Amino acid sequence: MNQYKPTADSTTYRGRFAPSPTGSLHFGSLVAAVGSYLDARANQGEWLVRIENIDTPREAPGASRDILALLEKLGMHWDGEVVYQHERHALYREALAMLEKQKLIYACTCSRKEIADSSIIGIEGPVYPGTCRNAQNHPHRPHQQSRQSAIRVRTNNQPIVFIDPVQGYVEQRISKDIGDFVLYRADGIFAYQLAVVVDDAEQAITHVVRGADLLNSTPRQIYLQQLLGYATPAYLHLPVVTNAQGEKLSKQTFAAPVSQFNVLFQLVSALRFLGQEPPAELLDSNLETFWQWAIMHWNPANITATGISQPDCIK
Ligand code: GLU
Ligand code: ZN
Repeated sequence: MNQYKPTADSTTYRGRFAPSPTGSLHFGSLVAAVGSYLDARANQGEWLVRIENIDTPREAPGASRDILALLEKLGMHWDGEVVYQHERHALYREALAMLEKQKLIYACTCSRKEIADSSIIGIEGPVYPGTCRNAQNHPHRPHQQSRQSAIRVRTNNQPIVFIDPVQGYVEQRISKDIGDFVLYRADGIFAYQLAVVVDDAEQAITHVVRGADLLNSTPRQIYLQQLLGYATPAYLHLPVVTNAQGEKLSKQTFAAPVSQFNVLFQLVSALRFLGQEPPAELLDSNLETFWQWAIMHWNPANITATGISQPDCIK
C-alpha cells in the first residue's frame, strides 16, 4: 500500500477578492471582502487581491489605491502582489486565440438595437439570436463592415450545474438562458466573463467566495473553464446587501462608502450580516482580537441566502 500523503501544497486553499475600482468600497463589497478573507484564513488558505480594472473607462481615479489602503486599515492582509487586470491583456488575448483555434468564437457586428429586438428572452433579458453565428460578415449589413465587431462564444444547451453551499442548486442551459455571450466588446474591451476566468485560472484560485449578484455569471464561467481546459474552483455566493428600497448597494444606488473610522463596528456588522454571531464585546476590542475571533468561529453553514439585516447595519 502506498502510504503517500499529499503535502500541504496539493491541498492549498487559494481564495481572492476581486473589486472593480469604479468607486469606493461600500458595505456590500465589504461583506464580499470579509467573507472571502475569513473562508480563506479559516482554511489556512491564501487570500489574493485582484483589481478588476479591465473596463478602464469606468475606473475612478484613485479608487484602486483607496481600496487597498482601506483593506490595510481593516487589518485584511493579502498574500503576494496585487494583480491588475489592465496589465494582463496578453493573457486574455491568448485565451481568445485558443478559442479561435477551436472555432468556438465568432465576430458579431449586430447593433444593440438588433439584439434588444430579439424575441427570445433569457434570464438576463433578450438572448442574442445568433445572427452572426454562421456568417463571416453580418448578412444584413454588407455595407457596414467597418463597424467594430464584438467577439462572441458559441454556447450550447448542455446543462451546467453546480451546488452552492449558500444559494443551493444552480442549473443553466447557456444557449437558452443567456445565449452566445460576448468575450470581447465592440468598444475594444475584454469582457468581465473572459478576464475573470483567465485570471482565476492563472492565479490558481481554488475557492471563489463572492456576492450572489454574480450567481448567474458562474455557469458562463464554468463553461469557459471547460472550453479552455481549466479547473473549476469551488464557488460560494454570499447574500447581496440591499438598501431600504431593495436595490443592490452600488455606485448607481449611491451606497455610502465604507468609512476609515469606526472600522470595528463595520466589520462586526458585516459578520452579523453573514449570520455569524460576534459577541458585543468585540466592538470594544481591537482589530487583532476581532480577526482572531472571526477566523476561529467562521462557520459558512450559518450564512443565509439573503443575509441577516440588522437595524444598525451600515448601508
Ligand atoms: N469585480 C467584480 C465586482 O466587483 C467581482 C468579480 C468576482 O468576484 O468574480 O463585482
Ligand atoms: Zn451579430
